[in-house]
This record gives sequence, structure tokens and C-alpha cells, in this order.
Amino acid sequence: MSNTVLVTGGAGYIGSHACVELLQAGYSVVVVDNLENSKIESLNRVQQITGKTLTFFQADIRDKAALATIFTKENISSVMHFAGLKAVGESCEQPLKYYHNNVYGTMVLLDAMTEANVKQLVFSSSATVYGTNPQVQYTEDLPIGAVNPYGRTKAMVEQILIDMSDSDKLKPTQTPWKIALLRYFNPIGAHESGLIGEDPNGIPNNLMPYVTQVAIGKLQQLSVFGDDYPTPDGTGVRDYIHVVDLAKGHVKAIEALQSEKFGEGGCKAYNLGAGLGYSVLELIQAFEKMTGRKVNYKIAPRRAGDLPEYYADPGLALKELNWNVEKTLDDMVADTWNWQVKNPQGYN
Ligand code: NAD
Ligand code: UDP
Repeated sequence: MSNTVLVTGGAGYIGSHACVELLQAGYSVVVVDNLENSKIESLNRVQQITGKTLTFFQADIRDKAALATIFTKENISSVMHFAGLKAVGESCEQPLKYYHNNVYGTMVLLDAMTEANVKQLVFSSSATVYGTNPQVQYTEDLPIGAVNPYGRTKAMVEQILIDMSDSDKLKPTQTPWKIALLRYFNPIGAHESGLIGEDPNGIPNNLMPYVTQVAIGKLQQLSVFGDDYPTPDGTGVRDYIHVVDLAKGHVKAIEALQSEKFGEGGCKAYNLGAGLGYSVLELIQAFEKMTGRKVNYKIAPRRAGDLPEYYADPGLALKELNWNVEKTLDDMVADTWNWQVKNPQGYN
């Protein structure tokens, strides 16, 4: 059987780290990316880290003919689907762009997979699909209730994938869908080599890249969005996960899809998080201690749409994927800083 994984969005932040883990685990890797939010240099670095080569196609996943060519040329056994847009604020301003890219793009990919009879898929979902819940530690069985267009694209794709898998039961099929929906919590960090990492365009929206750019002097001051939440120090609490742990979770998911566990097919969601929360101030303190740099910050009003606190219950991923995080918050901070110092202009 072929051991080749098609990685959509593989030149991006999480996808490039997944390519490293796949190559190191012995898989062949084919990447499709339109480079809308990434640089080809990330894939050169992936090859530098691993000493292995991968195949790259610059194409949009909405280009059905391009996908058909890839599936014809390459002997693909499974797909990791990272390609998508991810900025919450932009998704509120331009919802159609998000539905078009994330939802329609996935539909075109699913068509191409169906035609090529490739039925194993790992999908990049997000903890944002849970919306507001009374409990702060999220289990996979909580109701879905995304609160912005970006989150809704993830929730919609999850539903489409569940429907695709359910339809197998209604018709004779030799190849049932085997799908893992991976709900990420807050990915941060970088590969320990410092060769690949997060390279956001413009001013970052997320906490960690913002903190890093303040520490290195690119940005003046961090705004801490709210210190009056019902959390121990009043600032927002999140479950930060090292991107390398996250990437390893994808390889574990592929292994599970190819094992007896998914023997009869199915579509299943898994939380990928550390299972514990850190506040904004705790993250800043860890960063200052590790780097010896001061992070200039001010307390600002709450950001619209932010929840006070949530973190993963990662128990199901441990039980069924045999996956757990290995890295600490200090590792996340140290590796982020290493990447930033070695690449002050990102991949440029
Ligand atoms: P990223 O922007 O770094 O990577 C996404 C990649 O997909 C980019 O290389 C981009 O050029 C490519 N892409 C986008 N649209 C495409 C299209 N139509 N055709 C081909 N390529 C396309 O983002 P990331 O942080 O690596 O996120 C990867 C996935 O994980 C996304 O689906 C994102 O929604 C999801 N996710 C990310 C986070 C996070 O905090 N980073 C959290 C939860 C879920
Ligand atoms: N945050 C902040 N200042 C920033 C960016 C984020 O205080 O400039 C806070 C945010 O309110 C949340 C946490 O940091 O409590 C993580 O936010 P991020 O945008 O990184 O991820 P989210 O959890 O919103 O997906």
C-alpha cells in the first residue's frame, strides 16, 4: 500500500511542521498550497531539517483540474487538510471569502478524493467550534456552537464530513471514509531547529507572535485584552500546545485511520490540547523569564468575542490515538524565541 500523504496547506505554519513529522516517520509527502499565506522557503527548510525531499504543487484546492492531476500523478493514500483561511476578524468582515475558501475548497477536495478513491482524511478543525459552554474543560461531546464566520466554516466542514461518513452506511462501498477531525486548542512554538515557525503577515492577531514582536522591538506594546475575567489573575486562560506536539498528533491520527480502530470506517473528533490552561500574564511571565527580555504591555478592554477560560480534555486522543503532549510552556516559549531570533524577518 502507498505510504504517501497529500498535505494541503503544507507550506503554512502547522502544515510545515506536520511535513517534518511525516517525513521523519517514513511517509512520502506531497504538498499542495497556493502560497496565499506562506512562503515556499518553509518547504525548503522542511527538507533541510529532515534530509528528505517532498513534492510540491502550487495550486488552489478549489482548482478541481489541478487536484485531479495531483491524484493521478501521485499514489496518495491519505490526506491531511490544513489549507484554509484562519483570521477571525477578517472572517467577520469578509464572510464569503471564508465560506468560499474553507467550505467550498473542502468540497472540491472531497470530490477529487472520491474520484481518486482516497478516503482517509485528517481535518484541521478548531476548539472554536465549541462556542460558549458552561464547563471550561472541553470534551468532544459538547454541543457545537461557533460564534464567528471562521468558526462556522470549521463547524460546517465537520458536519459535511460526518454526513459523508454516514452516507457509507446507506450504500454498498468497498472503501469507507475514515476521518479524524482534530480540534486544535492554541498552537504556538516552533521547530527546535529554529528553521521553521510562525511567520504572520502584518500585525499579528494572536498573543504569542504579538508578544514575540514586542520583545524584539518590532512592536511597541502588547494590549492585554481584559484583566477582569473570572480567572485567577483576571486575564484570559487558554490551552497552549507546542506546534511539534500538534504535528505529531496528526501522524498518530493517520496511523489510527490506517489501523484496526477505523477498520469499518467512521468520522471522529479529537481534542488536541495539553489539558491545562495558562493566563495571558502567566505566558508573559514565562516569556520574560526564558528570554530575559521585558514585554511592554498595558491592560486594555476585553476583545469582543473572547471567552474567559477554556482548555482541552485530551483524554480521548490519549486513549484512541495514543497521543499526548510532551512539551512544556517553557519549551514553547524557548522555541518561539529561537525561531524569532534566527529569523527576525520570518522567511524573507
Ligand atoms: P497558515 O495560514 O499558516 O497555513 C494555511 C496554508 O494554507 C497556507 O500555506 C496557505 O497559503 C494555504 N492555503 C489557504 N487557502 C488555500 C487554498 N484555497 N488552496 C491552497 N492552499 C491554501 O495557517 P495554520 O496556522 O498553519 O493553520 C492550518 C490550519 O489549521 C487551518 O485550516 C486553520 O484554520 C487551522 N487551525 C489553526 C489554528 C491556529 O491557531 N494556527 C487553530 C485551529 C485551527
Ligand atoms: N490576547 C491579548 N492580547 C493580544 C492577543 C491576544 O491579551 O494582543 C489574549 C486573548 O484575549 C486570549 C489569549 O490572549 O485570552 C489568546 O488569544 P489568541 O488570539 O492568541 O487566541 P484565541 O484563544 O483567541 O484563539
